[in-house]
Amino acid sequence: MNTATQTYSGKAAPEDRLSPSEREERAMAEFAHHFGAYTATNLESCIHCGMCADACHYYIATEDPKYTPILKAEPFKQAYRRESGAFAPFFKLFGLKKKVTTEQLEEWQELLFDSCSQCGRCSLICPMGIEVAEMIEIGRRGMAAAGLAPKPLMDRAKHQAETGQPEESDRPYSEVLQDIARDHDLNVALDKDKADILLCLPRTDLEQNPESVAAMIKIFNKLGVSYTFRSDALIAENYGYYAGSRGLQKRITKRITDAAKKLGAKLVIVPECGHAYTALRWQAAEILGEELPFRVRHVTEFLAEQLEAGKLKLSKVNGESFAFHDPCQLVRKGGIMDAPRQLMDAMGVNLLEMHNKKGFSFCCGGGGGVNDLDSARELRSRAQQLKLREIDDTGAKRFLTSCSDCRVSFNEAGEHYDWNKKTESLIELVATQIKE
Ligand code: SF4
Ligand code: SF4
Repeated sequence: MNTATQTYSGKAAPEDRLSPSEREERAMAEFAHHFGAYTATNLESCIHCGMCADACHYYIATEDPKYTPILKAEPFKQAYRRESGAFAPFFKLFGLKKKVTTEQLEEWQELLFDSCSQCGRCSLICPMGIEVAEMIEIGRRGMAAAGLAPKPLMDRAKHQAETGQPEESDRPYSEVLQDIARDHDLNVALDKDKADILLCLPRTDLEQNPESVAAMIKIFNKLGVSYTFRSDALIAENYGYYAGSRGLQKRITKRITDAAKKLGAKLVIVPECGHAYTALRWQAAEILGEELPFRVRHVTEFLAEQLEAGKLKLSKVNGESFAFHDPCQLVRKGGIMDAPRQLMDAMGVNLLEMHNKKGFSFCCGGGGGVNDLDSARELRSRAQQLKLREIDDTGAKRFLTSCSDCRVSFNEAGEHYDWNKKTESLIELVATQIKE
């Protein structure tokens, strides 16, 4: 991605006060950051084969051509063709490619946010190697710059950049963490000044899955490693990334990286949250413009390493059959396919694989901020149905995943379709099977 020389202030003017021409200028300025050889190759190589449509759960669920992935990149593509493509002077001269207008940007909001979970399956399938999902991500950035990112995502991003939490809560999340530890009779390392490992948590687990939070504490206590949670850098999700705001993404990222540096941490562990992993592992160094002085690992990667080193010992489950959902960000962006299977294998899990597994796994339907959008509810429900069917087709009795946002999505789908399975966390299963 051609972003190395960009500077982002993160100080967008209040969106409501922008005039249409200001919005268009801001979107264009953001798109222009990305014009270059890399995006030119991506935007000029499409042979219109339509294969990316068959990769996308939103298209498959609706068969509506507007959900074809490469069409979602249209605002960016149109801006590129008019301003920077090989025929740009002619397009401009003869008015063949119109300027991207505010009305168009408003129309595209649904395509860029509600109907794209940034799962990356389209990029994987494209025979021309076009990074379709990345082009859509640039579209999101243009929308955020124009003040047209969905309000729920932008509000949460701003709140998180300011306070560390995406929303007001009755009590700070650090107190929620302490309560969960107390309820489970666990000691928790919080706000230590020095530690080898910085741990963070998904807000969804703090709010909805206290057992998962307790599982993290139990496992890290049992391993006897030097770790801490930090009140000022507790939340793993990055709403700036969801909203397409590089400025806010940077500020949210910096909360975690600053805390890790201050601690002298050698490792930051991303919990069960796929997009948090992408934001921290693959985008943090680029967005901050510096090398990170610590490693970033997803919790399943770290636990598989501990297993291999003989430091994590697990007992066997009772032979029940499980299906497992590979979270998109972990398999397609991080290649984390073996680590969860090593853990399941060590616990004697009878894993019945889905037809589309590992790198080809279909999205849960709700990642990338889609779960946060009420406007996307109907579309994500339709896409989720596809996935539930695939899970049922395995014949497995139980169902696991390693991303809390996927869990939210499956729980919602489960309720909607009166599904007979509960979505379980891999980390919770590890905590249950860890040998005392
Ligand atoms: S799969 Fe690739 S080449 Fe085919 S239509 Fe989609 S983006 Fe274009
Ligand atoms: S990234 Fe995923 S959700 Fe977005 S268009 Fe591509 S396949 Fe569809």
